[in-house]
Amino acid sequence: MVLSGDRLKAKDLWRDAGYDPFKQRNLPNAFAKVKDAKSAIRFVERYGFLGYASLKSGLDADDQRWQEDEEDLLPWILGQADTVRFALDIIGMLEHGTLRELRNTLKSRQVSLTESEITEQLQKLPIVGWGAEGPPNVTFRYNCTIGLETLDHYYSAWKTRGRFMTWDEDRVRSHAAELLTALVNRNTAHVRPVFFCEGNDRLQMTYDYRALIEVIWHHIGNMAMMSQEGTGVRIGVCHECGSLFVASRRPREGHPEFCPPEMYEGKGSRCGLRHRMRERRERMKRKGK
Ligand SMILES: [Zn+2]
Repeated sequence: MVLSGDRLKAKDLWRDAGYDPFKQRNLPNAFAKVKDAKSAIRFVERYGFLGYASLKSGLDADDQRWQEDEEDLLPWILGQADTVRFALDIIGMLEHGTLRELRNTLKSRQVSLTESEITEQLQKLPIVGWGAEGPPNVTFRYNCTIGLETLDHYYSAWKTRGRFMTWDEDRVRSHAAELLTALVNRNTAHVRPVFFCEGNDRLQMTYDYRALIEVIWHHIGNMAMMSQEGTGVRIGVCHECGSLFVASRRPREGHPEFCPPEMYEGKGSRCGLRHRMRERRERMKRKGK
């Protein structure tokens, strides 16, 4: 793997024949840890290119693999990782957070509109037919990566009286959930089920996709659904790094839980290891005194 300029390139990226990204439901957890060139390279070497080239060429991921210019753009990867962290934060806040925490999570990515943008938006609104709710408010703009658009902004309408919105709980929660669905839907545009025969007559189903990043967003959509009550599956929060992950079992009383191990990492959790190492160091320090 080489980084030349902004581009990540590899000659023949090794891939395990049995690797199916749709079965790696904790891909979002792993991708959320990508924060710089080093962690991006580490991720791509393990899970494959995120699909900048295939999104650009319009080829499916499997076809792009045979093209010469399979490569990723580093700033795009980092923008996507940042947006994935934002989406996971929203899921976590919808499940465990207070209204204030959810609000702060949303606000942290809001881009403020200029006075002229606000005027422009208000002018687009119909003058009549607002109903009892009063005139709709101007929209919020978020700094997110959608598809290939690193600088795309997502606008969301928010109906409220006058220019000043009320941050009541229902409104904030539904706004956050809407934003989340928009991010997931718009980042999974080319994921579709395909059926195939195995053996002579056994029908199987898998998914086609254009880019690995779409598979990651597909898992995020599933995580958001799992985090709702009554699905039997649970979203865990890592005691070490705070990342969200899909937990396969209940936490044991008095035992903190950690990010699951990544693919090819066996059974040990890196975050668990880091936590135990620090505890040991602290114990040694206390003993030394
Ligand atoms: Zn962790």
